[in-house]
Amino acid sequence: MFSKILIANRGEIALRIIRACKELGIRTVAVYSEIDRNSLHVRLADEAICIGQASSTSSYLNIPAIISAAEITDVEAIHPGYGFLAENPHFAEICESCKITFIGPTPENIRLMGDKMAARNSMHKAGLPIVPGSTSVIKNKEDALKIAKSIGYPVIIKAAAGGGGKGMRICHNDLTLISNLMTAQAEAEANFGNANVYIEKYIEKPRHIEIQIIADKFNHIVHLGERDCSIQRRHQKLLEESPSPVVDNKLRKRLGEAALRGARSVGYVNVGTIEFLLDSDNNFYFMEMNTRIQVEHPVTELVTGVDLIKEQIRVAAGEKLRLQQEHINIKGSAMECRINAEDFENNFMPSPGKIETLILPGGPKIRIDTHIYSGYEISPYYDSLVAKVISWGENRADAIKTMLRALSEFEISPIKTTIPFHLRLLSNPLFLKGDFSTHFVQEMLKEEQKGEDV
Ligand code: ADP
Repeated sequence: MFSKILIANRGEIALRIIRACKELGIRTVAVYSEIDRNSLHVRLADEAICIGQASSTSSYLNIPAIISAAEITDVEAIHPGYGFLAENPHFAEICESCKITFIGPTPENIRLMGDKMAARNSMHKAGLPIVPGSTSVIKNKEDALKIAKSIGYPVIIKAAAGGGGKGMRICHNDLTLISNLMTAQAEAEANFGNANVYIEKYIEKPRHIEIQIIADKFNHIVHLGERDCSIQRRHQKLLEESPSPVVDNKLRKRLGEAALRGARSVGYVNVGTIEFLLDSDNNFYFMEMNTRIQVEHPVTELVTGVDLIKEQIRVAAGEKLRLQQEHINIKGSAMECRINAEDFENNFMPSPGKIETLILPGGPKIRIDTHIYSGYEISPYYDSLVAKVISWGENRADAIKTMLRALSEFEISPIKTTIPFHLRLLSNPLFLKGDFSTHFVQEMLKEEQKGEDV
């Protein structure tokens, strides 16, 4: 096992990793930007090194500064968390060449899955159902029209190097396809430094269902069931739950087997998530693979009892995975609400600033993953996630009740958050029935808007 790890991240995930390390008896090194000097991850780690100015490019994306910090502190491994450098194959390669273990998959796997087009083709070859669409990058408008004709409208243009819900455009006819193509390419180039786009059939009202997997270096791999992440706004997840209200044991087995087949076909190691779209006839299609720990991993931890971060560190250290598929049971129901510093009442406008009052919920069956405290300044430089409230219940209805109780205790001011959004969502009759698709949030907000207009 490692004796010292550097955490190349900030916020709640840096804390989560430090906590796992402490329990494993591993010393920790935090890195931080100048503006994060008073952050909890800096306080809780055994050592901390400043790696640059506030902007991510100067600090949390600054590879030379992070590698120097790792060398100075003599760590054996780097945990990248999620976001920042977590899915950067170049960074994983540099770690390798500096003889520092990158806690994650191989650079080859990160590169393959980071190119969504290549990932699609590779999973198709492995026998996974993929969303009908292009098998190569769109060259010109004739190409785009031909593909759209063969799969039928609506279609979605996606950036091959895309992520974070950005760079997607839905098109309903030839005209919108042509006009969106150039903008999509330009946006892809601007956001991801890669103008390549491809086209997929736009699945109407699907659910976003993802399977968590973990593999060791000895070809042993298991899945830990699904997470339903259909509650999204602008393709960004707001609430995730496990199990999905629409996935039964039979479907879970099929999804799990498909995920394992896909991961095995590329010799995948460490944690990963295979994302699928599920249509109303229970057909599922591979969408993409995330080659890192995800924001929503706690819901899987609560229903399986597996500590994913510890397992991730253990397999990276070369230990054998002790989990056996037949021993992984989904117990009860868990859900996570992402509390963002965004003003729900004001179209989710960012609401950074200093926290004057903070009262965090507690009590049985509630887990809070957060880095904030009273007096903490939420910076506009990084993402707006300030806390994850995760509840567990014997069943979904209980998990919802506990979540409502917890959110009603949560006090934070003067910054505005997404808590009022979650309170509304959690009392919506369709949500309570489990009857929703990825369009649900948009529809719910539109419905409420209409009500207010009357
Ligand atoms: P990103 O990597 O940017 O998060 P994804 O490929 O994971 O992008 O897609 C994000 C979300 O966009 C999905 O959860 C789903 O809601 C929607 N989406 C993506 N592809 C399709 C599709 N072919 N049909 C319908 N919705 C889609």
